[in-house]
Amino acid sequence: MPAGDDVVDGDAPSSAADAAPSADAAEAALSGVLDGTDGDPQCVLCSNDADYFLYDPGSVEKFVCWEHVSPHSAAVDGEEPRPGRPVALSL
Ligand SMILES: [Zn+2]
Repeated sequence: MPAGDDVVDGDAPSSAADAAPSADAAEAALSGVLDGTDGDPQCVLCSNDADYFLYDPGSVEKFVCWEHVSPHSAAVDGEEPRPGRPVALSL
């Protein structure tokens, strides 16, 4: 019987420090942007009302309509955010 062995049993907390933008951060950014916006936000690519807010920390903060939000370039609500791709929050 080994004495003096400190056996740590249990799950070590995984440090989930990934680079994917979180929805919480996106929502915080969205409320900040909306504070400085008069009226309803519009799509940056056309004149439709925006349906989504694209957010990538430090690089992307823009509004797009449903026609211009690309599921290939954004993590739409409910999908897992991927590093390097903006989060798309539905408005
Ligand atoms: Zn559009």
